[in-house]
Amino acid sequence: MSLNDLYQEVILDHNRRPRNFGPLAGATSDARGHNPLCGDKVTVSVIVAGDRIEAVHFEGSGCAISKASASLMTEAVKGHTVVEAESLFKQFQAVITSPMDQDIDPEPLGKLAVLVGVREFPVRIKCASLAWHTLHAALVKSPAPATTE
Ligand code: ZN
Repeated sequence: MSLNDLYQEVILDHNRRPRNFGPLAGATSDARGHNPLCGDKVTVSVIVAGDRIEAVHFEGSGCAISKASASLMTEAVKGHTVVEAESLFKQFQAVITSPMDQDIDPEPLGKLAVLVGVREFPVRIKCASLAWHTLHAALVKSPAPATTE
């Protein structure tokens, strides 16, 4: 099994059995996000206590990449501080939007590295980043929905 096959398998698994999916009782904040290019819609709900993300859930409908990315995002930021989550968002965004001929270091991304393949497909980059833009909107309590445009 190649690394790409393994990555594909993780994405399919998160699409079929999304983690932290559904409403979040006692959410301290939530935000809606929309990727008009693909039609992905997501709502991200968080419970933030002090500066720590105690719980994060998502709901919505969209393509396999957007759903898998949202699921992986919830696992990646749960239990971390808001600053750590925003920093991971920046690193993730930088890697998936980097040019194909640029070497990348997927190490700091942990399991999110399964999504680095989207940088080959510009439309898919927005599918992969939607949940992160929406998480950001929830964390800063933005009154406006997040959008990838
Ligand atoms: Zn999509």
